[in-house]
Amino acid sequence: MATIFSKIAAGEIPSYKVAEDDRYFAFLDINPMAKGHTLVIPKHEVNYMFDLDEEEYAGLWAFARKVAMALEQAVPCKRIGVAVLGMEVPHCHIHLVPLQTEKDMRFGNKLSLPAEEMQAIAAAIAAKM
Ligand code: 5GP
Repeated sequence: MATIFSKIAAGEIPSYKVAEDDRYFAFLDINPMAKGHTLVIPKHEVNYMFDLDEEEYAGLWAFARKVAMALEQAVPCKRIGVAVLGMEVPHCHIHLVPLQTEKDMRFGNKLSLPAEEMQAIAAAIAAKM
């Protein structure tokens, strides 16, 4: 059965899309730790990051780097924090979180932003890609 992130990448479940190419997809986390919290996934469904083959793994991080560069231009922050957990969704993903302080990277933080604000943030990041 397809993961929820595969369905998001396929457009079957809505998301605030930030960027995509033929192999990778980036979208806003639905419960961001901080404004602009973005998830980057391979479209190819693999649960554990280190099960990706070397080429796809390198490609995922190269794509995430491009997204992070756009994100830091679009969302005021000191730097982009990066994390990989995968405890909730079994489809590997990189968390990119704009940080003002290290407290912004707390995994207990769960913001719920209005749809219009999520849409505006996603569009602002996409415009910098
Ligand atoms: P992890 O698997 O790395 O522990 O956390 C999964 C992350 O995915 C969480 O930050 C959670 O808010 C996010 N998430 C879970 N379901 C959805 C969803 O349906 N859409 C979006 N955009 N994010 C989700």
